[in-house]
Amino acid sequence: MKRTLDALPGNGSAGRARYAAPTELAVGWRGGLTINMALLTELFTAHPLGTKMRLMCSTLWRFSFFCLFGILLSGCSSPDNLYFHKQALIRYHDSGPYKTQVQRVAAHAISYIRKRAASGERNLAVVLDVDDTAISTWDRLIRDDFARKDTMFIAWAMTNPAPAIGPVLEVYHQSRGLGLKVFFITGRRNPLAERTELTLKAAGYTEYDGIYFRPDSDHQKSLAPFKTDARRQIEEKGFKIIANVGDQQSDLTGGYSERTFKVPNPFYYTP
Ligand SMILES: [Mg+2]
Repeated sequence: MKRTLDALPGNGSAGRARYAAPTELAVGWRGGLTINMALLTELFTAHPLGTKMRLMCSTLWRFSFFCLFGILLSGCSSPDNLYFHKQALIRYHDSGPYKTQVQRVAAHAISYIRKRAASGERNLAVVLDVDDTAISTWDRLIRDDFARKDTMFIAWAMTNPAPAIGPVLEVYHQSRGLGLKVFFITGRRNPLAERTELTLKAAGYTEYDGIYFRPDSDHQKSLAPFKTDARRQIEEKGFKIIANVGDQQSDLTGGYSERTFKVPNPFYYTP
């Protein structure tokens, strides 16, 4: 006997009417999903494995419902309050993890610099970023409640000392002690040049081989092109940059360095 849907037990004319007109029920994708699930449930009920199929469809239907509910809930939730983010950053900085992580990065850099210096190659160089790599701007961040504005930064930098970040100062001392050249490349602009060099010297970076400031004419969104070009200029002078240390990804991308070392800085972002 030919086994058709109509011939299956419990499948009467009312059932045929439901299966014959699915399009009238498919209104919108959510409606279509719901109704088609119902149709599938009805269809599988007629299958010889009806009970298992029905259970499976029922479970699937509930799962879909909870997924949809979860998506709606996640769309309605708001991010944490900014105050709590700032408190978490202060805890991170003051309670130890920040210092530990900076020490770890600096230790890796020193290890690599020593290994490369042992090769006896001449004119090896190390590049350091300035703010929150060589020296700390933490005092300003706290004073200005993490605000980022050039005018506020310049006012602070012109009138305040900035302490060295100890583990990076050690990278500097080790590099100098091994006879390597040390260059600074900073996003600070020329009006801050004199003051920045005084600040670096006061922090312990007393001798270095060059410092590059961002030109006043550079208004690109990212610092990366300027920093990349400065490293290119250093290498064109005949130096081989073996390590580039910075706190922002824009300090490190673009090449012209054997290795890059990123110290943590979750306090702000410089593109
Ligand atoms: Mg920096």
